[in-house]
Amino acid sequence: MSQYQAPLQDMQFNLFDLWQVQQFWLTQPKLAEILDVDTAAAILEEAGKITAETIAPKAAEADIQGVSFANGVVTTPNHYKEIYRLQCEGGWTGLSGDPEYGGMGMPKTLSSLYEEMMCSADIAFSLYAGLTSGACVALLQHGDEETKAFYLPKLYSGEWSGTMCLTEAHAGSDLGIMRTQAIANDDGSYRITGSKIFITAGEHDLTDNIIHLVLAKLPDAPAGSRGISLFLVPKFLPDAQGNSGVRNQAICGSVEHKMGIHGSATCVMNFDGAVGYLIGEPHKGLACMFTMMNYERLAMGSQGLGAAERAYQNALAYAKDRLQGRTQTKDANKADPIIGHADVRRMLLNIKSLNEAGRSFSVYVAHQLDKAKFANDDKAQAIANLLTPVTKAFMTDRGLDACITAQQIFGGHGYIKEWGMEQLVRDVRIAQIYEGTNGIQALDFMLRKVAADQGQALQWLFADLMTGLNDKTNPALIQLSKEYQEATTTLLSRAASEPQLLATIACDYLDLTGYVLYGFMWQHTLNALDTEKHSANYIASKQQTAQFYFERVMPRAYSLLAVLKAPVQVVNEMAVELF
Ligand SMILES: Cc1cc2nc3c(=O)[nH]c(=O)nc-3n(C[C@H](O)[C@H](O)[C@H](O)COP(=O)(O)OP(=O)(O)OC[C@H]3O[C@@H](n4cnc5c(N)ncnc54)[C@H](O)[C@@H]3O)c2cc1C
Repeated sequence: MSQYQAPLQDMQFNLFDLWQVQQFWLTQPKLAEILDVDTAAAILEEAGKITAETIAPKAAEADIQGVSFANGVVTTPNHYKEIYRLQCEGGWTGLSGDPEYGGMGMPKTLSSLYEEMMCSADIAFSLYAGLTSGACVALLQHGDEETKAFYLPKLYSGEWSGTMCLTEAHAGSDLGIMRTQAIANDDGSYRITGSKIFITAGEHDLTDNIIHLVLAKLPDAPAGSRGISLFLVPKFLPDAQGNSGVRNQAICGSVEHKMGIHGSATCVMNFDGAVGYLIGEPHKGLACMFTMMNYERLAMGSQGLGAAERAYQNALAYAKDRLQGRTQTKDANKADPIIGHADVRRMLLNIKSLNEAGRSFSVYVAHQLDKAKFANDDKAQAIANLLTPVTKAFMTDRGLDACITAQQIFGGHGYIKEWGMEQLVRDVRIAQIYEGTNGIQALDFMLRKVAADQGQALQWLFADLMTGLNDKTNPALIQLSKEYQEATTTLLSRAASEPQLLATIACDYLDLTGYVLYGFMWQHTLNALDTEKHSANYIASKQQTAQFYFERVMPRAYSLLAVLKAPVQVVNEMAVELF
């Protein structure tokens, strides 16, 4: 069975030494009132205890049991009710929720680390509360006061859960062609009719009520994605006191049988004249839903990192224990631990250098979100928007790579269920697909985030990342960063005469961006090391892992730069029959 310990030391290093978020907390009355370094450390420690001791040890059991479905009722793995209760009692379901409605008001820097731990422990279980948190973000921003006061406290407390109902059988990446209909009732509510597929936590037995956020079209809707509205559709229509009342016609038709995350119920949801309430303006629902999806996309990065962290911990333990081949002993009848082999060390360092940079990146992005939310910092908001697709795609791509590499370190034993490595590979794979595939993320990044403002937010990002650095700090990184920015300018100017260029290179460009940004994460990490605060081993480990990153991982950026320079005709002009 795979083991897990929360990497608390590294988490605290990222928060307090690298990004020094406590200084920002002090400047914000809403945070300063409730949070300081000791409180934050205690919260992380408690989260580490619950995830490592209570949730992680049973993830394999949840995988084997999965969810079951009969007559519209979904049953989750046996122990999920108990761990969900613990999660609610500890206030974890409302960790970064608005205190005005019963949330704990914690910053995203803390909740993103909690999400990482939850995903290390059991991605499937993490989704029930994860989707709820996303629904709360959308309601908080777009709901009217009455809706917020009524629904948010029950969602933050975990008494009720939330979903996100976008996908239809014929409408996945292309939501503009969805068919679900909404017809106005006389009392101001709407009747929702249509079928949604792949709805995470669409039906389950963990909460009294489920609040679906559903995209649908009004009869006078303009065509395409500009004609989509957002509706709140409860499973049970609550009475005025907030008790779950009459059953609404939002019924689960079946659950999917899938590659991984078996403990998560992925449901077909049939809405048959279900009562719903409009959230936000008519026809502006996609923008409202994007609030939720952007939040979820950052959480996706935590899924990639969480799985990769657990994979690394297990691969490292195995590499120290498994005896194969001779690297030290001269006795032909004996063998040494495989961690002595160059190739195994290469694999471990690959994972470690990307995981640790990933954690620094995740906290950096979360910090931008906090600056935007608590200090109305527009530049920070622009940087967070810019980095959302990079966080989602680069961290989940590297997450799967890490889990596969860690599985490889186990040799044949990695392929066997007992060790838990194949579960990590199966579970993390979905993160590249849902919440918008990574291909769609790359298009969003290249077209809507970089090209649309001609690289303005990107310039703000690099100005921010250069804080405390200069041209001599790390010549290899500075040179790469210059070449990256030149390549961006060239791509944007070539795009005027090469219409397919940006869509064709979007994934390579996003990958390149990730490798450059992780270089900055490592440089800032090196700058934050302090002999007064950190042990000699901690410093040596960081320094040597950084060296590995700069010498053996970051140069991948140069092959991507070469790809960006190449013409794209062959990709777009090859006839379909020649494929
Ligand atoms: C386990 C699971 C849980 C899910 N949970 C939810 C949920 O809670 N709520 C919800 O609404 N949905 C959910 N989904 C749906 C998920 O978000 C979609 O599967 C995903 O967005 C992709 O849509 P699709 O499957 O229809 O693929 P398609 O849209 O058919 O895409 C197929 C391929 O074509 C590519 N492609 C499509 N359009 C373009 C384009 N314009 N340019 C370039 N490439 C393109 C895609 O990148 C992909 O590689 C879930 C899915 C799964 C499997």
